[in-house]
Amino acid sequence: MLSLFGSGIGRGIAIGPAYLLKNSDIEIPNFTLESGEIAGEVKRFRSAVLTTENTYKALLKNLPKDAPKESAAFINAHMLMLRDPMIMDKSIKIIREEMVNAEYALQAQADILIKVFEQMEDTYLRAKKGDVQHVTNRILRNLLGIVSHTLDEFNDEDLDGKIIVGKDLSPAETMFIKDRKVASFVTDIGSQISHTAIIARSLRMPAVVGLHGSTRYIDNGDLLIVDGMRGIIIVNPSANVLREYKTRQSKIRARQKELNALTKKLSKTADGKRIQLLANIDTAKDVKAVTRVNAAGVGLYRTEYLFMNRSQSPNEAEQYREYKRIAISVGKPVVIRTLDIGGDKQLDFSYPNKQSSESPLGLRAVRMCLNHMEIFKPQLRAILRASAFGKVSIMIPMVSNFDEINQVLTIIKQTKAELKSEGINYDSRIKVGGMIEVPAAAIMADLFAQKLDFLSIGTNDLIQYTLAIDRVDDAVNYLYDPMHPAVLQLIKQVIKAGKKANIPVSLCGEMAGNIRYTRLLLGLGLKNFSMDSTYLLDVKDRVLTADTSKLKYFVNKIMNADNPGQARDHLAKLNQL
Ligand code: PEP
Ligand code: MG
Repeated sequence: MLSLFGSGIGRGIAIGPAYLLKNSDIEIPNFTLESGEIAGEVKRFRSAVLTTENTYKALLKNLPKDAPKESAAFINAHMLMLRDPMIMDKSIKIIREEMVNAEYALQAQADILIKVFEQMEDTYLRAKKGDVQHVTNRILRNLLGIVSHTLDEFNDEDLDGKIIVGKDLSPAETMFIKDRKVASFVTDIGSQISHTAIIARSLRMPAVVGLHGSTRYIDNGDLLIVDGMRGIIIVNPSANVLREYKTRQSKIRARQKELNALTKKLSKTADGKRIQLLANIDTAKDVKAVTRVNAAGVGLYRTEYLFMNRSQSPNEAEQYREYKRIAISVGKPVVIRTLDIGGDKQLDFSYPNKQSSESPLGLRAVRMCLNHMEIFKPQLRAILRASAFGKVSIMIPMVSNFDEINQVLTIIKQTKAELKSEGINYDSRIKVGGMIEVPAAAIMADLFAQKLDFLSIGTNDLIQYTLAIDRVDDAVNYLYDPMHPAVLQLIKQVIKAGKKANIPVSLCGEMAGNIRYTRLLLGLGLKNFSMDSTYLLDVKDRVLTADTSKLKYFVNKIMNADNPGQARDHLAKLNQL
C-alpha cells in the first residue's frame, strides 16, 4: 500500500483499477545493424506500420455515431500519412543505407519532416507537424511494444470504472473522458483551478492532480482509491483501508440523497432574500444536470469546448443548431459566453495568423476574437439566431478596456442589422454582459456597468491576474487564495458597481460553488451565483440557512483582517452562525 499526495478535485471518492497513459517521452533506442539483419529490420518496420494501420481502421469502425464528422477525417488523414513515401520509403532507405534500427530511422525521418513543416509560411501546413508526431508516435509504440495507452485509443477500449493515470491532461483531452464512464483521473501535474480541473468537477468525478510521480509508482491494473476531498491517492490499499473508504463512499451518497430533497425548494435566505442559483455548462450534454438540480438557468456556457478536438472550426450553422438546442432544452435564461481560447485552452485546427502561445497574458478570449473576425462573426450570428428560441444573453470574456466593449457592441449592432436585412429572426433586445476577470475591469466596473447589461465575476481568472499566479502552474498553487483581501475588495467593488448602475452581477468562478464562501459572498451582497450543477444543492443548503442580516459583522472583520490566518478564523465563525 502506498499513499501519494496532490491537489484534490471534487468531494467524492473513486475506487477502481488504474489505466496508465504514456503518450509522451518515448525513449528511442539507437543501434547499428549487421548487413544480414537489414531485411529483417525492414520487415519489422513494415509490420509495425501494418499494425498501426489496423488500429486506425478499428478506431474508424468503432467511432461513436455522434462523434464529430471531423474525427473520421482526422483518422483518415493519419492513415494516409502513414503510407506516405516520405514516411514509409524514406525510413526504409535510412535503415538500409545507414544500417540502423527501425525506431531510430523513423525518428530521424520524422525530425526532418517536422523541421520542414515548421518552416512553412502557411499556418495550415505548419500545423501538419503535429500529425507527423502523432503518426510517428503510434508506429514507434508498436515497434517498441509499448502497451500503455493514448487518449485517442479511448474509442476502442472499455474504460468503465477505470482510473486514468497520466502525466497531464489538457482541457481538450479531458473532454474525451466526458462521454465515457471513467471513474476518476490522477495526473502528475496540474492545479485545482485549471480548466482540466473544472471539467473534472462537471463530470462529478473526484480527481487528484499535481501528484509528481504517480506514473512512476502506479502500474496498469493496480487498485486505486482516489480521495478528491483530501487530495490523496492510495495504491493497492489494505483490506481495512478499503473498507473504511467504502463506508465513506456510502456516507457521501447518503448526503447526496438528503440534498436531492432540496431540489424543488425556492432558493431564498432564512430572512427571505431571493438568491439565483445558476449552472455552468460546457456542452449540451450538461443540460440534463441543470434540469436535475432545478437551476434558475445557465449563468455560463463555455462555448470553447464546441471548438475543441476537431480539425475545423464549427461553422455558423452548426453553432446555431447547438445554441438553439441548448436554449430550448434549458427553457430558462442561458448566458452564452463567446469563445474563450488562449492560455491553457488551445484549438487543434489552424486559422490565419494563429498564435499558439499558452501564456495567460496573451491573445486570449475577447482579444483573440477581435483579432479573428472570421471566427467571432459566425459565432455572434449563431448566438443571435438562437436568441429567437429562448432567453439567451451574450457574455464577453476577459474584457480589460472600454474600447473592447465598444468594439464588441458595434459588431453586435452590425450583425443584428445584417440578420434583419436577411429576414432572419433574433431577439432585438438581447442582453450583452461582460466578465470581470482582470483587475483593470474590476477597478473600472463602474464605467463598464454603464455600457453593459450585466456583469459576471470570473474569480478563477480574477484571482490569477490579481495575484499574478498562473492558474495551471501547481508550483504557485499554494498562493491561489480567494480570501486574499485584494480579491475580496475587487469583488465587493464590482457588486457595488452593479448595484449603483442597477444591473445584475453574478459570480461564475469556482468560488461560487464552494460552500466555504457562500455566506461571505452573500454578506458582500451577491445575489446571483453560477456554478457547476454538482455543487448547486450544497450551495442552496447554505443559502437556505443563512440570515443575511447577521452576516455583516464577520464579513467586515474578514475584509479588515490583518493577516490570512485571522481572516480564516473569522470565516470559520461566519460559517458557524
Ligand atoms: C473564471 O475565470 O472565473 C471563469 C468562470 O472562466 P474560466 O474558468 O472559463 O476561465
Ligand atoms: Mg475565465
